[in-house]
Amino acid sequence: MELVLTPSKNLKPLPEPTTLGFGRYFSDHMFNMEFKEELGWINPRIEEYQPFTLDPSTLVFHYSQTIFEGMKAYRTKENRIQLFRPMDNFIRMNKSARSLCMPEFDSGFVLNALKELLKTDQKWVPGLEGTSLYIRPTMIATENTLGVKVSNEYKFFIILSPVSSYYVEGFNPIKIWVSPQYVRAVPGGVGEVKTGGNYAASLYAGELAHKKGFSQVLWLDGIEHRYIEEVGSMNIFFVINDEIITPKLVGSILPGITRDSVLKLTKSWGMKVFERQISLEEVVKSVQDGSLTEMFGSGTAAAISPVGEFCVENESYKVNKGLLGPVSNRLFQTLTDIQYGRTTDSFNWIEPV
Ligand SMILES: *Cc1c(COP(=O)(O)O)cnc(C)c1O
Repeated sequence: MELVLTPSKNLKPLPEPTTLGFGRYFSDHMFNMEFKEELGWINPRIEEYQPFTLDPSTLVFHYSQTIFEGMKAYRTKENRIQLFRPMDNFIRMNKSARSLCMPEFDSGFVLNALKELLKTDQKWVPGLEGTSLYIRPTMIATENTLGVKVSNEYKFFIILSPVSSYYVEGFNPIKIWVSPQYVRAVPGGVGEVKTGGNYAASLYAGELAHKKGFSQVLWLDGIEHRYIEEVGSMNIFFVINDEIITPKLVGSILPGITRDSVLKLTKSWGMKVFERQISLEEVVKSVQDGSLTEMFGSGTAAAISPVGEFCVENESYKVNKGLLGPVSNRLFQTLTDIQYGRTTDSFNWIEPV
């Protein structure tokens, strides 16, 4: 397969780097390729960012056979552009593809295509402190039929969006809400797959949380409604008696790459680290007796997102007086130092573009 580059003739003005927000601007080019059952993946190309036309019967519109990834490119002080563990994203995407009966792709080829796309649109990687270029690889089912079936045609694309720091106004620990009723995923389902349906299913509880003044939902397991799973669309961590605890991957939890990085970093710092079930009851008790000192979410968008308060059935609990704690802070600094090339990359996580 040969990657074809057709430069866009309609280059756009770059957005103002201080007001990027998230996912509002898109770069000049995109990567595209198609899959047909008889031919495999065909026509890989970098071309102008543009809308595509799809028949109203296109399968993805009806039965949600779609997967995606989220990763970032960072500009270093020396003006190099680099990626953080990109191969892990493509390996995870191929796992997602298998789960939803979608075709796998050559992750090495696609990583190389992404690097070419980034070179083509390199001026879209913002340089302002904390900003980055968000990367969204997506695969959708494109066969035209209303029959409930596995599609025999697909489209794979990558689009790029320059984004602000998650913490434009500084590191403000978030307030989260435990939904007494709604769940995100169940064992045996697709909770560990990065697919749009999981997001659609979490919107209603998310809206309820927003209406009550909370920024995210703390999700409990779908069977007993007892064990902690995730927070919003992030993995979650607790610091209890100086030990790091995160729910173990039981099938309904998304295996975050930031989660894995937090586990590796904290282990390398000599901390005791546990992947195990942790109940809401244990979390409440540990907050009350003072042994729980920090709680934070992890994900590509924010890296580390400290939780300052959580609410269960109208009862609110403050964590670390609502302030940023030392472990969250050190993790945020170390992760972003590695991502922006300000420190040695001792885990080999950085992929230069
Ligand atoms: C993407 C995602 C995460 C975080 O994964 P990272 O690889 O760390 O960005 C966590 N939970 C859900 C539900 C997700 O979709």
